[in-house]
Amino acid sequence: MRILLVEDDPALSLGIARAAEREGWRVDALADGEQALSEGLLGHHDMAVLDIGLPRRSGMDVLRHWRRNGQRMPVLVLTARDELSDRVLGLDAGADDYLVKPFDLPELLARMRALRRRSAGRLDESLRVGELELDLSGPELRFRGMRVALSPRELALTELLMSKAGRVVSKDLIVARLSSWEADFSENSVEVYVHRLRKRFADLGVVIKTVRGFGYVFEMADGETPLAP
Ligand code: CA
Repeated sequence: MRILLVEDDPALSLGIARAAEREGWRVDALADGEQALSEGLLGHHDMAVLDIGLPRRSGMDVLRHWRRNGQRMPVLVLTARDELSDRVLGLDAGADDYLVKPFDLPELLARMRALRRRSAGRLDESLRVGELELDLSGPELRFRGMRVALSPRELALTELLMSKAGRVVSKDLIVARLSSWEADFSENSVEVYVHRLRKRFADLGVVIKTVRGFGYVFEMADGETPLAP
């Protein structure tokens, strides 16, 4: 999952970014409402965490702008206690959830996981293909109940492919979902990561097939892949 974080308190922003990265999520952090207006419309992110009190443009303006322009990604609004009336406005303007500062990071992460599940229409906390199970609350990949050790990026790619099992996932989508501003993810890196995952999954009953010139399909090795919802 790639997250747009808009928060002008540097310490809080860094804390959130680090915690989210430990979940295996990529975070792009902005500290300015004006920049967030256009960035949020690029379609690169799966979710936004948006502070209300921001320099140049308030989080409220940003959120209204996104929603007016058709950006429907889940947005979790952060608000100071003395902005509580804004909280209501935040929900009116199209926020999906809010958290009042100060909050505990584990609480924020739990809310973000819940939002992601809701937006994906998934009540289930795991993805399954054959005997592979990706527990999204970890996140952790298991084969016959045993943990398969993967790096955060390998996990992110696995999640993307498994969530669309049996369907083609384009290289463009992989690049967009796995990139963040700090670390660009190129088409070449996609190939490197797919190569690594193929080795990892060699004995686990799944394959990542190449669709030449387009992308990849995550399938069961015996070809009997039930389509992901
Ligand atoms: Ca602020």
